Amino acid sequence: MPKKVIILGSTGSIGCSALEVADRLPGEFDIVGLAAASRWQSMAEQIERYRPAVAVLSDLAAAEKLAAHPGVAASGTKVWGGPDALVQLVKETDCDFVLAGIVGFAGLASTLAAVRRGLTVGLANKESLVVAGRLMVEAAARSGALLLPVDSEHSAIHQAMQAGRSEEIERIILTASGGPFRTSTPDQMRQVTPAEALQHPTWNMGPKITIDSATMMNKALEIIEAKWLFNLQPDRIEVVIHPESIIHSMVAFHDGSVLAQMGRPDMRTPIQYAMTHPRRLAVEGPHLDFSVLSRMHFEPPDAQRFPALRLGHQVARAGGTAGAALNAGNEMAVAAFRSGQIGFLDIVPIVEDVLNRHPFVENPDLETLSSVDQWARNEVTQCSSV
Ligand code: NAD
Ligand code: MG
Repeated sequence: MPKKVIILGSTGSIGCSALEVADRLPGEFDIVGLAAASRWQSMAEQIERYRPAVAVLSDLAAAEKLAAHPGVAASGTKVWGGPDALVQLVKETDCDFVLAGIVGFAGLASTLAAVRRGLTVGLANKESLVVAGRLMVEAAARSGALLLPVDSEHSAIHQAMQAGRSEEIERIILTASGGPFRTSTPDQMRQVTPAEALQHPTWNMGPKITIDSATMMNKALEIIEAKWLFNLQPDRIEVVIHPESIIHSMVAFHDGSVLAQMGRPDMRTPIQYAMTHPRRLAVEGPHLDFSVLSRMHFEPPDAQRFPALRLGHQVARAGGTAGAALNAGNEMAVAAFRSGQIGFLDIVPIVEDVLNRHPFVENPDLETLSSVDQWARNEVTQCSSV
């Protein structure tokens, strides 16, 4: 029986890669639900090709255009619109697996709904763990949901952890490419344009995570993500720069052994690992070729030029509402940078300021997390428009 799959964020980089994984493993998956924000023409093409039971666009006007499209009307796919429809899709569709590939806080409610339903969740939407890690992990413990990381680093750690028991782990080492400005001076970084920050040296990803990689906020988010996924103390999570992005991360055991997971920088590999788990299915290469790969480099991250990293450990230690403030501040600061309102080097100080000033709550529920998210968004709007 094919696995019944919902893809949240199907028009994005992760969503399209997940559909490619399904294409290259015919008969393995039945795409029963697709969801995205507003790109209705892309969604119309996906509907005609995959014929899901339901397709959702959170933008109501776009959903109306989608429903009126002749190919969609003839497909038999139901079209739902609005943010609540994302949660309804996850709650009501007959399915086995949800790929959480929406970007940002917008993906939290639907991802949490999948976890609460006890489904297997392929988690790309790291922001949902950053904002609501405790709620997600507790909901998974109650419902029996399995959270499988899609983020390449966390997929690597999930795989390397199979080599020992959790109490045998000393620490984990997240690798980071260092982004496009790994060797830039602060003066050069001050001049960076959005177009330059959107050029990632090794990975081809959506715009928000690409900017996050340039500031290294992405690695900060990944520290917090790792804490929740693997139940680790923040001081056991280390970061090393590895510009080639071949080692996707490592697990160090108490006996001195370090296990690394390697592969070409291709998100289809960790996506497929999650989608086919616990099996590994053969796919055509190219696979990693050590006759071509001559060298791998490692260096410690530069905390002066990349202050975002420090915030990752700070927020992982603080817990509570800190992740919600960090995430919302960052989403807004990245958007302000992309629209030319602030400079590249303004992003992290704005996030830090919002984080440090936010009304901290130790054990927040979803409502409190949403209100901190909203508060932080308003703060950034005010300080980036002056
Ligand atoms: P993207 O911008 O390419 O795609 C985002 C998707 O989310 C789109 O389909 C968009 O329509 C949808 N979306 C955005 N806002 C929405 C809303 N309000 N309602 C419904 N849908 C909405 O982003 P991406 O690069 O695919 O990243 C997706 C997630 O995966 C992010 O959390 C990112 O951090 C994570 N991730 C991505 C990569 C990568 O290689 N792209 C790697 C690791 C982790
Ligand atoms: Mg990653």
